[in-house]
Amino acid sequence: METGNKGVILCLERTSIHDGQGLRVVLFMKGCSLSCKWCSTPESQNAVVEKGYGRIITVDQAVAEICKDEIFFFHSGGGVTVSGGECLLQPDFVAGVLGECRRRGIDTAVETSLFAPWQNVEKILPLLNTIFVDLKHPNGKIHKNLVGADNSVILANLKRIDQSDFPVQLHLRIPLIPGINDGDEVLSEALSIANSLKKLVEIEILPYHRLGVGTYAKLERSYELEDVKTPSREYIVGRKEFLEKQGSNIRIKVGGGCTAGG
Ligand code: SF4
Repeated sequence: METGNKGVILCLERTSIHDGQGLRVVLFMKGCSLSCKWCSTPESQNAVVEKGYGRIITVDQAVAEICKDEIFFFHSGGGVTVSGGECLLQPDFVAGVLGECRRRGIDTAVETSLFAPWQNVEKILPLLNTIFVDLKHPNGKIHKNLVGADNSVILANLKRIDQSDFPVQLHLRIPLIPGINDGDEVLSEALSIANSLKKLVEIEILPYHRLGVGTYAKLERSYELEDVKTPSREYIVGRKEFLEKQGSNIRIKVGGGCTAGG
């Protein structure tokens, strides 16, 4: 999938305000070992360039692209966020990009499912200011049914990050899928995982959306959640209030919508 100096990316987006503090460049990597039923970027899952999706890029080229926005980082407190697909599956390339960005004083973040070997996590963790981790479902069996693998690797990686000496800011994201992981019991279980993490800064609820549905047809794949409707803003806020009423001190916010990269 990667040769170290080169990586397979889906695209690079500028001026994002949803993927970390300030204005950010988001580098979307290709390749993911999960297959979330709600994935809004199915074109990011395959680790190769396919049907016009993706390109191969060197570390130097990626850094040069990112640095075009350096002036905005400086004024907004922003930086670079590496997302996916799953960015931890191309650890040498991503470490090369993030290491060079750090050397230049650029704020660094990743969005990840944490479904990757610990040695991949270890390569990138020391280079991060912030890590956004998706918490898709607290129950291992249901998790497997929804995304293709249970959550044991993810929870073990999460614990090791939390217990590490690296001063990374940890954010948990819950992609809230109506009828699937938005019930009281599931949210309470997710909150108890969050409560056990001492590096946790915030829980972000990502409302389900259907923006990626058209891409499934282009890839000649079917979309399994055809019957799931986009929830109202009131409903999402109600779920946030439910979490807040559980008596945790963790800050909870509603984010911009389900993303890939976890
Ligand atoms: S939502 Fe993220 S973790 Fe899930 S399949 Fe898509 S890219 Fe992979």
